[in-house]
Amino acid sequence: MIIDSHVHISLYENNAQSLEESRDLLLQEMARNGIEYAIVIPDNLENKDDIADLAKAIELTNGYKEFFLLGSPQIIQRGNSEIQKYRELLESGTVKGIKLFPGHDPYNPTDQRCLPYYELLQKLGCPVVFHTGDISSDPNIQNPLFYNDPKYIVEIADKYPKLKVIITHYFWPKIEYCYEITKNSPNIYFELAGTADPEVLEKSGGIEKMINVLEKTIQNRPDKVIFGTDWPMCDIKKQIDLVKSLKIDEDERERIFSKNAIEVYKLLI
Ligand SMILES: [Zn+2]
Repeated sequence: MIIDSHVHISLYENNAQSLEESRDLLLQEMARNGIEYAIVIPDNLENKDDIADLAKAIELTNGYKEFFLLGSPQIIQRGNSEIQKYRELLESGTVKGIKLFPGHDPYNPTDQRCLPYYELLQKLGCPVVFHTGDISSDPNIQNPLFYNDPKYIVEIADKYPKLKVIITHYFWPKIEYCYEITKNSPNIYFELAGTADPEVLEKSGGIEKMINVLEKTIQNRPDKVIFGTDWPMCDIKKQIDLVKSLKIDEDERERIFSKNAIEVYKLLI
């Protein structure tokens, strides 16, 4: 079984004319690539026509057993005033965790406004996912790596030792640095979205280097690496092929493709 733990419903890099069409295209892509379930991540930008925010993602996935959802609180716009809303969404299982977008938005993971969310998530046993890496949707942010450096994520993981802390995009292009700085924090997880993307690979030192870092990561934490793609920005098949190319046990591969996601997100499937 394959679970894709990182997709968006959006018009980026596809021919869909509406978000409904994008959802249907995603279902086709999943079927074509043997993906049974996907976790839809709402964007940090709200009310956009070309990518689903939380309200739109709830509407678009309602009634589809293939989809799970994360939440994405508006830290810049609303600080931690949405904490009660997210408590209810998490407790009811409407969302399985929370994604934060440091680097897309100008704040660090250690920002005071984020801390109540970490406490809530730790208490409920649900994960936080951090966007990392050298890309931002905000043209005013020149250096996204300043905001999502894993040194801040390690601080949070150590401060909240029972919080499940997921890094996505491996802080590309500084993947070796990200491996080294996180390797002693047992509650840090890695979700693989973007790590097979040609631009990410080129800027991160090539596919051999990526394979090496991922194999080391899996050796270090076989129960904490999770498959994800970042569709529609990234190609699903390339990401599957990358995981298939890793020199790891079949048991570990199965964990990455589905079992780890089921455990960390507590998916009832
Ligand atoms: Zn994404």
